[in-house]
Amino acid sequence: MIDARKELQLLIRSRYPFVAIHSADEARVEALLDKVAREEDLPLLIWSSTRGMRRSGMLVASTRGRTLDDALQEAKAKSSEALFFFKDIHTHLQQAELVRRLLDIAAYFRADRRTLVMAGADIEIPKALDHHCASLRLPMPTDEELKRLAWRVVHDFSHGQDVEIDMSSTSFVRLIDSLKGLSHLEAERALCRAVADDLKLSEDDVEQVIRIKKEVLEEGGVLEYVPVDVGPEDIGGLDALKSWLAVRRDALTDKARAFGLPAPKGVILLGVQGCGKSLAAKAAAADWDMPLLRLEAGRIYDKYIGESDKNLERALDAAEHMAPCILMIDEIEKAFAYGRSADSDGGLSQRIFGRLLTWLQDRTAPVFLVATCNDVTQLPPELMRKGRFDEIFFVDLPDPGERQAIFRVHLAARDRDPARFDLDALAQATDGFSGAEIEQAIVAGLYAAFAQEEDLTTATILAEVEATQPLSVTRREEITALRTWAEGRAVPASGSDA
Ligand code: ATP
Repeated sequence: MIDARKELQLLIRSRYPFVAIHSADEARVEALLDKVAREEDLPLLIWSSTRGMRRSGMLVASTRGRTLDDALQEAKAKSSEALFFFKDIHTHLQQAELVRRLLDIAAYFRADRRTLVMAGADIEIPKALDHHCASLRLPMPTDEELKRLAWRVVHDFSHGQDVEIDMSSTSFVRLIDSLKGLSHLEAERALCRAVADDLKLSEDDVEQVIRIKKEVLEEGGVLEYVPVDVGPEDIGGLDALKSWLAVRRDALTDKARAFGLPAPKGVILLGVQGCGKSLAAKAAAADWDMPLLRLEAGRIYDKYIGESDKNLERALDAAEHMAPCILMIDEIEKAFAYGRSADSDGGLSQRIFGRLLTWLQDRTAPVFLVATCNDVTQLPPELMRKGRFDEIFFVDLPDPGERQAIFRVHLAARDRDPARFDLDALAQATDGFSGAEIEQAIVAGLYAAFAQEEDLTTATILAEVEATQPLSVTRREEITALRTWAEGRAVPASGSDA
């Protein structure tokens, strides 16, 4: 994980004239600059359009440096080392005149140690400034910072009113865990909302914070926090995959590290639609007792320039900060299918691909990846190379034994005793059906039985099965091609051992 303080120090010492900090959390940026300025023994000068230029810690602004032009002039004229924080300057970066002024300043700043910092959630650095401006991302807050933040929020609310704390130490740990993945500012807002509604920090606030986090993560539209409501017992078949996952249940823990185990990286689940790939990811999250995040590969791409890279960065960042967790990338092939050549999208998909590959290889946080894939022809071979994933599983259409198991799961889930059904006959009749199609046949049977004011029987389900044209018929060629590809390259997810 990056240490923003060290990185900023390094950039200043390397005499970068400009540094763009990608964060909307101005207070946090200011605190960071303050710390670094003190450690580097540099004066910190802060400019804003409302307060002009002032030295950090001083309330009174200098008389000069009121407008942006004046302030830049003042910064340029200053002959000694300094760190400047120009608030909101990034919102004017599309003005050619400002870019020119910054370019003029760059040479002066390089000569002695002067650095101008800008900060914002959506900074677009103009091409002309590329060589002079370094980018820095603020890391998400640590456990310790989140704990301090929680106490500070309670403390701030306690002025003039009573705030009750009704929480065990275990729930407090859960509260801090549930804040992971949020920025400092977002975590503070979530805590304020949790405390403000009833002037209480209690057990219930954990659920509320999880809800808020879900909202925040989904705002970007790329990462989704998936509620987990199924376990391995809800999967019919896929025994090899289930036992592979069960063996690695505690493999992301510190205890496993101390034992000398490398952290498992993840699996690719390649296979036929509706056969339980997403279900397996959910069941693993339940079994391992970890949060499950879903990254929709196709949604990384945004119509706004620069947004796609940011979307991916933010999603990976949030996932790392929620670690240990399981990150499911649905239809990973779509992450690379945006523009097949560098020309069609200005190299965007190649950049995204490159970033994802490095992250897969180098991430240090225990994020277990479950990548699902329906179409291998779209997958770049680099992705499959050893080291990026631990295993590639092929999830085929269920065999007769698995179909019986799936019927059992879905009948029991609807309060029907599987022993009252002819599972043999149902399994035989559903040759070529996926798990999702079997479930659908039961649901359709329930509707029919309800309309006829009868209970569900084998015959009602068989009638629905008869009326269904499974995907294995309409997509026969695709499935055969998938099987041929998987032969020898992927481990069957069914069967007794992986
Ligand atoms: P897609 O590629 O279309 O996303 P998928 O392989 O990820 O498909 P799931 O989303 O896991 O398939 O399956 C859809 C639903 O079908 C599941 O939520 C579950 O209810 C049912 N289902 C599929 N396979 C199984 C199975 N092996 N056991 C029990 N239920 C299953």
